[in-house]
Amino acid sequence: MIYQKPKGTRDLFGFELERLETVNSIARRFFKKSGYQELKIPWVIDKRVYVLIPEGTASVWRAFIENKLSLPARFLYIGSMFRKERPQKGRYREFEQIGIELLGESQPFYDAEIIEQAKRFLEIIGAYDFFIEINSIGCPKCRSAYKNILKSYLKPHMNTICTDCQRRFGKNFLRIFDCKEETCQKIYDRAPMITDHLCLECREHYAHVKKYLGIFKVDSKENKKLVRGLDYYTRTVFEFKQKGLGAQDTIIAGGRYDLLMKELGGSDIPCLGWAMGPERMLLALPQDVPQLEDRTSIYIAVIGERYVETMLKVRDTLVKNDFICVMAAPEDSIKDQLRQANRLKVDYVILYGEDEAEKGMYAIKDMKTGEQHSIVPDQLLQFLKKS
Ligand SMILES: [Zn+2]
Ligand SMILES: [Zn+2]
Repeated sequence: MIYQKPKGTRDLFGFELERLETVNSIARRFFKKSGYQELKIPWVIDKRVYVLIPEGTASVWRAFIENKLSLPARFLYIGSMFRKERPQKGRYREFEQIGIELLGESQPFYDAEIIEQAKRFLEIIGAYDFFIEINSIGCPKCRSAYKNILKSYLKPHMNTICTDCQRRFGKNFLRIFDCKEETCQKIYDRAPMITDHLCLECREHYAHVKKYLGIFKVDSKENKKLVRGLDYYTRTVFEFKQKGLGAQDTIIAGGRYDLLMKELGGSDIPCLGWAMGPERMLLALPQDVPQLEDRTSIYIAVIGERYVETMLKVRDTLVKNDFICVMAAPEDSIKDQLRQANRLKVDYVILYGEDEAEKGMYAIKDMKTGEQHSIVPDQLLQFLKKS
């Protein structure tokens, strides 16, 4: 008897499998060094949830609640998932996914941070020729006000847009912007966009995300039609797109979903994250995926907002020199920052506040030995490279 593999699946072996495993192992090392904890969890979940949200996110949340883990929390998952839609190039029915979830952080700093980390990860595995699109789709408050504005704009066009869009407008109205019909898109080209109708809080949040992306030197393009279509997304949404992959060019997609946990019946916990399909990305990667040597990870703790700028520069230098850096949002208290540094199991903590500024030194703690050092700025790189 001859068996055939199911449609939309494939066998992975030899060189292709090796490349995929290299990407997975780099992801493991890179994100663990950035303070993420890997979750190996069964991907079988409640059917109701399955249709609602990406399986990775749902399972991470389930594990978080069931195991009573504490906040804030950073998770990494790598695994095989399944999708129901029709298979396409680089899009299989059973597919690999790498994803991260950041729970309990509402500051815009973290929206920018997870985008920057995704970008650095792509660079490490040798991806190039990708670009980043971002948008803010606000909160329920901005959305209900905006829906009326959009409704009056669309009124004379209601019979011109496709039946899919007519239906979507009733249920999940932001999704109309995902429509592939050119007729619809022409109408939406001139529509008022939610990005321009955010409430004050959402507008400020978005402005800060963009500010930090600028500080992290992450180039991104605003795409006002990027909506990610699902109701539980709030504020930030983003996609990484690869040139040369045609219509299915999204390699990473993510955003903030502060309402999700509540919607699933849990407590009100802000959350953000992204997911990447390494298989589709392998199409765009060079044949040889580079190896990641063990890099030193550093947590930067800042006491006092006025030193943030200085430490962001230090962070920049360290990242350029291949260190893995984690920094707390400047708004977090020093107690929270140090507690986080402890939990993230980094190699070093750099501490900078009034005392250090006065002395012109950085306080550095070696987290393995517990030793404390005072280092002048000029010798920081030398000190860390020696270790
Ligand atoms: Zn809002
Ligand atoms: Zn349409």
